[in-house]
Amino acid sequence: MILLDNVTKYYPGDKAPALDQINLYIEPKEFVFLVGKSGAGKSTFIKMLTREEKPTSGKVMVGGIDYTYLRRRHIPHLRRRLGVVFQDFKLLPNRTVYENVAFALEIVGVSNAEIRRTVPKVLELVGLADKGDRFPSELSGGQRQRVAIARSMARQPKILIADEPTGNLDPETSWGIVRLLEEINNFGTTILVTTHDENIVNQLKRRVVTLKDGKIVGDQKSYGHYDLDATGRNRIIKHTIAASMPVESTVEDIRRATNSSRRIITKHNDVTMEPLGGPASMHKDMDVTSPNIKGPVVSSSVGQNTKKASQEAKPVPKRRIVR
Ligand code: ADP
Repeated sequence: MILLDNVTKYYPGDKAPALDQINLYIEPKEFVFLVGKSGAGKSTFIKMLTREEKPTSGKVMVGGIDYTYLRRRHIPHLRRRLGVVFQDFKLLPNRTVYENVAFALEIVGVSNAEIRRTVPKVLELVGLADKGDRFPSELSGGQRQRVAIARSMARQPKILIADEPTGNLDPETSWGIVRLLEEINNFGTTILVTTHDENIVNQLKRRVVTLKDGKIVGDQKSYGHYDLDATGRNRIIKHTIAASMPVESTVEDIRRATNSSRRIITKHNDVTMEPLGGPASMHKDMDVTSPNIKGPVVSSSVGQNTKKASQEAKPVPKRRIVR
């Protein structure tokens, strides 16, 4: 779902890399905290995924799209398929809650009828069904963050990236947001959260990836805890993609994740990328377009193009990795 293969990033003029040979694989539906001190490389890591920055070397794949082959004109479409929420919410102040969410759909050409069906459902998902006609200035910080999450989720992304989502919130409100992210994760959305909130990280016991000086110095698959210097059991010496994969991963997952010669493949509306050329079974986790939210959000026509390939995919027998 998310793969960084030996990614290094130097900003112009910097002597030290902001990211230094990062190898990381995040499975579909995982919930991952990305932690590190200020300057550790968290923002740069996220910019690799949103394609705000390109790696100096190495390869980034998100939702099956190999960024190496991404054309400039595809980038806005890619970003629309990644939900991103920020510490400072980034809402439109002169639009109501309903309009903020609707706008995210309007700009990708969703019909008015679909917008009228979808917006109330995502507002219900985030617990703001009765706040549709309010302006952001009339809401609390926690409610604003819920609007930002609703806006990101309206397009039903497979991946939601939350960059310090609780950074401006008090502890109780922060927990409400984290619970909401967990709920969204339970619907099947992959979640990546950067945070400095030690309490939340330690209590959630999810996967925790720790960055230090641009390197991954810790990666705990579960029961992760906040240990920025990775001095304890969090510490890892050498990080490879295979090592970053959860133990439930199959041999096939690793083969798929590490195969660096393939090109991607997805067709959606006006976004067409290169066919992989492999069998359909290679593609089944690579659909960044299909709706993945069961439950409160309506399905849409998005993703139909890739559905057939998924249906044709032969199931790969699950095998545990012997380490
Ligand atoms: P974090 O988000 O963990 O605070 P960043 O990814 O922002 O870390 O920064 C990692 C390193 O890259 C830091 O040394 C920072 O100074 C440097 N850096 C970040 N953005 C830029 C930039 N646009 N130009 C030059 N150096 C940068």
